[in-house]
Amino acid sequence: MGALFSIAIDGPSGAGKSTVARALAERLGAMYLDTGATYRAMGLYMARNGVPLDDARAIAENCARADIHVDYDAEGRQHVYLGKEDVSEAIRAADISLAASSVSSVPAVRERMVELQREVARGHSVVMDGRDIGTKVLPNATLKIYLTAPAEVRARRRHLELARKGMNEPFQKVLEEMIRRDETDTRRAASPLRKAPDAVVVDCSVMALDAVVNRVEALAREALEAKA
Ligand code: C5P
Repeated sequence: MGALFSIAIDGPSGAGKSTVARALAERLGAMYLDTGATYRAMGLYMARNGVPLDDARAIAENCARADIHVDYDAEGRQHVYLGKEDVSEAIRAADISLAASSVSSVPAVRERMVELQREVARGHSVVMDGRDIGTKVLPNATLKIYLTAPAEVRARRRHLELARKGMNEPFQKVLEEMIRRDETDTRRAASPLRKAPDAVVVDCSVMALDAVVNRVEALAREALEAKA
């Protein structure tokens, strides 16, 4: 594919954005950027340094010290670093999901992360997933997708995923955390989770994720042809 393109995939936690975005990037020969990983790395930094996660001022004051960067290995897999340490695994802990959600409501954090995300993607065709990609990070994206499903469906999927990893969290707890994250993400003042007016809504509660990938790929190829 000739000219550079960008595809924004937004939606609530657990909708399958990263699975869909990663597969789509592979099919289109584009770079995949999981922007949630950058907020998670910031959450991890604050948690490790004892910065209270309910203190927006302290988070804003400390965020410039977090040395976060993103790199790709030979297989094209994304890794996120805090200084020299690869924290790609550490950021997946459940308490870090909540820490990421807290720090992501602080405007100074968002400014830094948006800058970092645009920098990583510069000069590449990219598929990016997150909460504000279509509304803020890539407002001129070639295609914007809003991937969604009811909280119960997303929690059921997450619950299964955790069980497969040997983590037997009660379903009710997974659901409550999902709802809590939805609330923080949609209610914050800075770049809340919103569907961009020009985004295509894909409801993944009625389709298996591979069918979602096919549908999004078809939409992407259509958008790329229209642009050519
Ligand atoms: O997508 P993921 O669950 O890894 O994101 C972790 C947290 O980072 C989300 O709950 C959300 O609060 C925040 N986030 C964000 N904007 C993005 C990506 C993630 O605010 N573009």
